[in-house]
Amino acid sequence: MQNTELFKKIIAGEIPCEKVYEDDHVFAFLDIAPVNPGHTLVVPKIWSEGLLDTDPQILAHVIQGVQKVAKAVKEATGASGINLHQNNGEIAGQKVFHLHFHVIPRHENDGYELWHGKPAEPSSLKEMGERLRKALG
Ligand code: 5GP
Repeated sequence: MQNTELFKKIIAGEIPCEKVYEDDHVFAFLDIAPVNPGHTLVVPKIWSEGLLDTDPQILAHVIQGVQKVAKAVKEATGASGINLHQNNGEIAGQKVFHLHFHVIPRHENDGYELWHGKPAEPSSLKEMGERLRKALG
């Protein structure tokens, strides 16, 4: 079953969390299983499943919250950098179906690996570019 309720319950205070920030639109709390200490989740108070179904106005508030939290995470953890992760769909690693951004502090040699790209042929990039431009209208 898809998990759509967990973060609603955390926001409502029905499930405890380590809250770090809240405003009218956004709620932020520490991930229970952090990649690195300070790994924080930023979520909208109004539920949406993920990026694709979120009202752009809400998204604007969320990304401002993400920036605010990212600055604080960097300062509080002494991180050298920050990764944002935002998973959409089970195949992409989404486990909680309530839009959230992972704010992950990064340190030298912390062992966290990013994706491994596969070099593409220019012709396949061109074809994909055409498909995407068409989809974008
Ligand atoms: P997703 O895989 O959906 O992008 O990320 C869900 C995140 O929620 C995971 O990183 C997981 O550790 C975190 N998480 C799951 N359950 C809880 C919980 O009960 N409390 C907190 N604070 N984080 C949770």
